[in-house]
Amino acid sequence: MSTGRSVAKKLDSQDELRHFRDEFYVSSEQIYLDGNSLGLLSKRAEKSLYTLLDSWKNYGIDGWTAGAYPWFYLSEQLGALTASLIGAKPEEVITTGSTTTNLHQLLATFFKPKDKRNKILADELNFPSDIYAIKSQLSLKNLNPDEHLIQVKSRDGNLLQEEDIIAAMTEDIAVIILPSVLYRSGQLLDMQYLTEEAHQRNILIGFDLCHSIGAIPHHLSEAGVDFAFWCTYKHLNGGPGSVGGIYVNERHSSAEPGLAGWFGSAKEKQFDMEHTFTPAADAGAYQIGTPHVLSIAPLLGSLEIFQEAKIDKIREKSLQLTAFFIELLDSELPDATFTNRSPVSKEKRGPHIYLEHPEAASICKALKARNVIPDFRTPNGIRLAPVALYNTFEDVYEAVRILSEIMKSKEYKNFKNERGVIA
Ligand SMILES: *Cc1c(COP(=O)(O)O)cnc(C)c1O
Repeated sequence: MSTGRSVAKKLDSQDELRHFRDEFYVSSEQIYLDGNSLGLLSKRAEKSLYTLLDSWKNYGIDGWTAGAYPWFYLSEQLGALTASLIGAKPEEVITTGSTTTNLHQLLATFFKPKDKRNKILADELNFPSDIYAIKSQLSLKNLNPDEHLIQVKSRDGNLLQEEDIIAAMTEDIAVIILPSVLYRSGQLLDMQYLTEEAHQRNILIGFDLCHSIGAIPHHLSEAGVDFAFWCTYKHLNGGPGSVGGIYVNERHSSAEPGLAGWFGSAKEKQFDMEHTFTPAADAGAYQIGTPHVLSIAPLLGSLEIFQEAKIDKIREKSLQLTAFFIELLDSELPDATFTNRSPVSKEKRGPHIYLEHPEAASICKALKARNVIPDFRTPNGIRLAPVALYNTFEDVYEAVRILSEIMKSKEYKNFKNERGVIA
């Protein structure tokens, strides 16, 4: 095990991103491996939040157009800052809503059932909220979700095969909704391939980027993806409930938003107060109401860090971290009854590791008692996310060492094998 620590130290010393760790509030007592659920606060995000509080304090209503970051333009400005992370044009991206409300907006806009093409294709492993949104959008169109939502099956309950998704792209599918990275196993789907196949069949395709944005570079425009949506409180470190985002390919820029509201107006028209809606000519059209300024504010600081660190470098380190993790698990816990369910190949591996164990809940509690913060997913999953911007290789080494101790001493048996209210 001591070789593990020296390897970790060496990797840390060679890490080009290591100075970014000092920008974050990382507890010296903890090993935080839950940045895929809630990213940590950075000093820059804290500062930008205070800056916007100050503009409220100092300008009152005039904060919409005055101060360091006039609120009226923030959503567009942050959308443009996000664009480089996902390979989009600035005008194709807007910071708005939440993952779920954004999916509602996008389906209300792009799901136009016509004759026999009246179904939505998703997968059986997606996050529940996305499925609830799809079902309710079908119901709103008087379509029975049991018949009109098709969910691609997983062969092993854990991963998806692109071939199976493509086989389900039949003539009755109007829209496809898939995750970029599966929230449980961390599998990264081949978005470009799936998009090409969907388009060959005249099907629109949109991706949920919650588990990849800020950790994996995307090339949405190049791939021709029709639309995408995400949250910003996971890898983007925007804080609890921070405002999400929407991407709509410019070829759809004339698509009228399904859910209209005055903040979707062309900026210069909004305050004409007319009852005829003039939507913005870009992704801004998909905004609905007044932006949640104080929940957007931390992103100003946080996204600056991503511009400096560069998303390709972040992905490179993230892959090194997860590879090191998998290596250590194999060498230090060879006979633990864990099953590593995350893809091992670089092409398919997302930014977190996913282990299964019948006593996962107890093990997570035992880890937490030892100040290692994992993420439990019912019924038997442990997610561990080493985040490139603030985790070290030594964190990974320490986490595996502690996990190994917990398994050997069986101290996890002291904890009840059931989940808490959250996770
Ligand atoms: C985190 C996450 C959500 C959460 O949706 P919110 O509207 O932000 O609460 C939805 N879908 C996926 C895939 C997620 O990872």
